[in-house]
Amino acid sequence: MKTIKDFNFENKKAIIRVDFNVPLNENFEVTDKTRIQAAKSTIIDILEQGGSCVLMSHLGRPKGFQDAFSLQHIVKSVVDVIGCKVKFVEDCIGSKVEEAVANLEAGEILLLENLRFYEEEKKGDVAFAEKLSKLGDIYVNDAFGTAHRAHASTTIIAQFFQENKCFGNLLAREILSIDKVLNNSEKPVLAILGGAKVSSKITVIENILDKVDHLIIGGGMSFTFIKAQGGKIGNSICEDDKQELALDILKQAKAKGVQVHIPVDVVAADDFSNDANTQTCDINAIPDGWEGVDAGPKSREIFDTVVNQCKTILWNGPLGVFEMESFAAGTIALGHSIDKATKNGAFSLVGGGDSVAAVKQFGFAEKVSYVSTGGGAMLEMLEGKTLPGIEAIEK
Ligand code: AMP
Repeated sequence: MKTIKDFNFENKKAIIRVDFNVPLNENFEVTDKTRIQAAKSTIIDILEQGGSCVLMSHLGRPKGFQDAFSLQHIVKSVVDVIGCKVKFVEDCIGSKVEEAVANLEAGEILLLENLRFYEEEKKGDVAFAEKLSKLGDIYVNDAFGTAHRAHASTTIIAQFFQENKCFGNLLAREILSIDKVLNNSEKPVLAILGGAKVSSKITVIENILDKVDHLIIGGGMSFTFIKAQGGKIGNSICEDDKQELALDILKQAKAKGVQVHIPVDVVAADDFSNDANTQTCDINAIPDGWEGVDAGPKSREIFDTVVNQCKTILWNGPLGVFEMESFAAGTIALGHSIDKATKNGAFSLVGGGDSVAAVKQFGFAEKVSYVSTGGGAMLEMLEGKTLPGIEAIEK
């Protein structure tokens, strides 16, 4: 794997694809700088070597040039996080940009305007990618969040750099962390899959069955498995057309020697709201009119034992409707279990969609080994797919 450590950036211009797709409030202020912080190490390493950085990113889903989506809004935050001056140019291709790049000196940063102001970016247009490629000597991809897209700046551009292309520190760390779970893992390996639906995780489950010793199926998707096995799930969320598939997954798991753990009890609510009445019941006997919204206390204990038996832990998807305080206890308990296992030497990776929000909300982000920055990209890697943005660097 080629990373920035394999290059000398002295007096070189690095054209870096970063993921600065950050949330803005109504005053166009950045409300969460995590993605900018995530790109910091690559930028600093290159500057310290005497190189300069040309940063390119998308922001939101603009239709043509729209001020609301201008990367100008985030300049101040980039300055705050990186800690040095940042130049900005109001376009991402063309003579004005080329001039700004030519004037860039060692140790300086130039941020380009939103790539998606051009529809060529998402279309993966080769001519557009070639224009971007003129803006640096070495192409660095550090945007894991878009690595599953074959866009001009994430994938197509790489063909114009032959040898002079590599992964930034963030993308390299993402790749190594997932590899540590899927291919170079210390056993026993556990995957915890929760969240709302079986349908969005099927390919992940099928791919992961070959890699893990234990599988915890929690959250909303567990009810499809329970109903398929004849349990009474009341009003709980369920995908009826996936019941056959659920049984098939259990069969495959058995054949592969994977131990599957599904909640045995649940917190059930009589309404999908934070102040609903609740009761704890057997997951196979949820009364009519009630729905399972969180893992029950017995399940939390069982999961704690499983988690603390394992040396490699992957967590994707909450165990309950954690956005509502009354139904967050199961997800929080799992966070504590993983924290304990990590302190005892297990490698724990959290990633893909809502589980990242959950670990951040409950303060576990610093306690697990690694929190992935890419939702969709992470899921696709767990599905066993090769991401175009990664392949383009490796080619
Ligand atoms: P996902 O994006 O697939 O990881 O799903 C995350 C969502 O699943 C969160 O918004 C949770 O509120 C939801 N979820 C988890 N458990 C349940 C449940 N028992 N019933 C309904 N939704 C759930």
